[in-house]
Amino acid sequence: MTNATETRAFQAEVKELLGLMIHSLYSHKEIFLRELISNASDALDKLRFEALTQPALHDAGDELLIRLDVDEERRRIVLADNGIGMTRAEVVENLGTIARSGTRRFLEALRAKGAQSPELIGQFGVGFYSSFMVADSITVETRKAGTQDGVRWTSRGDGEYTLEDVAGLERGTRITLELKALPADDEEAQDFADAGLLRELVRKYSDFVEWPIVMPSERLQSEGALVRRKLADGTEILELNSKKPLWMRSKDELKPEEYAQFYKHLAHDWSDPLETVHFRNEGSNEYTALLYVPSERPLDLFDPGRDKSHVSLYVRRVFVMGDCEELLPSWLRFVRGVVDSSDLPLNVSREILQQNRSLAQIRKRCTTKVLEALGALRDSRREDYERFWAAFGTVLKEGIVVDRERMEQVAGLCLFPSSKDEKAITLDEYIARAPAGQDTIYVIGGADLATVRRSPHLEALAAQGGEALCMVEPVDEWVRDMLTEYKGKKLVALERGEAQFAGEAEKQKREDAEREYRGVLEKLEQELSGSVASVRVSSRLKESPAVLVDDVDAHGIHYERMLRQTGRPVPPRKRVLELNADHPLAARLKSLVDAGDAGGKLKDWGDLLYGQALLAEGSPLPDAPRFSKLVSDLMLASSK
Ligand code: ADP
Repeated sequence: MTNATETRAFQAEVKELLGLMIHSLYSHKEIFLRELISNASDALDKLRFEALTQPALHDAGDELLIRLDVDEERRRIVLADNGIGMTRAEVVENLGTIARSGTRRFLEALRAKGAQSPELIGQFGVGFYSSFMVADSITVETRKAGTQDGVRWTSRGDGEYTLEDVAGLERGTRITLELKALPADDEEAQDFADAGLLRELVRKYSDFVEWPIVMPSERLQSEGALVRRKLADGTEILELNSKKPLWMRSKDELKPEEYAQFYKHLAHDWSDPLETVHFRNEGSNEYTALLYVPSERPLDLFDPGRDKSHVSLYVRRVFVMGDCEELLPSWLRFVRGVVDSSDLPLNVSREILQQNRSLAQIRKRCTTKVLEALGALRDSRREDYERFWAAFGTVLKEGIVVDRERMEQVAGLCLFPSSKDEKAITLDEYIARAPAGQDTIYVIGGADLATVRRSPHLEALAAQGGEALCMVEPVDEWVRDMLTEYKGKKLVALERGEAQFAGEAEKQKREDAEREYRGVLEKLEQELSGSVASVRVSSRLKESPAVLVDDVDAHGIHYERMLRQTGRPVPPRKRVLELNADHPLAARLKSLVDAGDAGGKLKDWGDLLYGQALLAEGSPLPDAPRFSKLVSDLMLASSK
């Protein structure tokens, strides 16, 4: 052991975070206690779990608990747990840097909004560092289970911290907060140097914590119905929490506020959950699940490595594993919660979990329950559902891509913007309001909603009063590959293949036009042979002169972008150029070709048509300077 005392600088981002937090106007500073208790509770969970395989870490006589104490005069709070503790290296990592990418995102958001938006702090739950909102100085003394010596970390939150090795520490972590002086100008400010208030806060935020949270009994004058007892060391204490894991209580006895508080503890979120799913499975595979759908999108939802389920696994009330990916598929990774099994062995390893049959059943049932709850939300609380959809729809859609069995059910939960009106609708709503006899679901893809809504591909359909669902998210490309049919109705892409909605009369008209314009089509095809596969007459256009059409099974714009971004070769995509024979330009082209195109204009006109079609769909021009020169030339020619 080095026994070195050293002063180190916080990582720059921590410094910034602390600065923002210390000066924040955030009014719920009390959450610091919830954060500290939650860390202590995690540390006890971890110790108990490690001790299953290394019994020496925890001998049976020593009761695992969280001690809270306060010295009202010296304005000091002490919170101690005899959990897993931290090594010196872990202290540096956990209390000196920003380890979680979510915290980094949070910092970015906070930086952007600054002190005007203090509620961000609560929404995110900034963990340990939130204590600097209430304390001038913090000391953490910790000794890792199974090691001899401990370490003391001290900081005033001003950019540096000091580390020193300390002998003789108890196992676990002891945190001392030197509270800030009460502001003279703010009569509303809560004074945390008050045992009664701390007791209230424990009840409010941490009542269901499984470990006893205890306080020396002499601190509290009126202890109400709290359990009073003596610890092994002779201290007389009061238990501040009821310890009953919330999920074990019956649904009827639980109030919405209690569910919400537990959610906040679990998810480190400040906002209430949007939906709660609580159920018990009896019989051969016994378990209880309490699952929440959050109302806000966490900042790190799409970070690499955050694609696992966020449900914790307990076995007979003993915490076994956080973020247990076997409990829910990754496309439900926005769900938070716990599953407590009565049947699994306590010392399960990841390998066992992967093959465990009861776990597979749990996963199936939890998935079904969450999907049902979302279906009910969609049908009964549409506004809330839209909020859910805005936050998590993109993730849920992944279910269509990866889970064939659930594909239709998940598809039924999707909301898609309509080409017609502002409100996004479901596939069933689309079907219900489509004209009688329409046995297809028209969809249209593209770079973004605004572009797609103005797309030439919609013209003929819109003229008939028809509607299409817009699929403009990157994930939609994969959704469209998988979801070719919904409830027996084919999904037809407007920008791909032949136009499908043209009636017999339209078809005849098109055949006539093809004949009439054969010369133009052939010539254009020659001139544009480097860019397009062929040129034909369109039956999908009303206003625009031309449009580009993909193959039925082509990949879309987002797919190509992804290939480009990841440095993979993008296969050349030669599409069909469709010409609007009703557009006055078509007749002009015909005159030009009939007259022999003496001036060689057709090449330029062809390039202009092609360029326009690219612009209309939001694609880049292959040769923008040439396009722009052609346009200038046209302007000059027309103003002669
Ligand atoms: P979070 O708990 O959300 O990860 P914190 O900033 O609160 O973020 O804590 C960072 C890390 O420090 C924790 O993940 C944990 O590894 C460690 N830690 C904090 N408090 C304790 C404690 N009482 N005992 C052991 N480890 C702790």
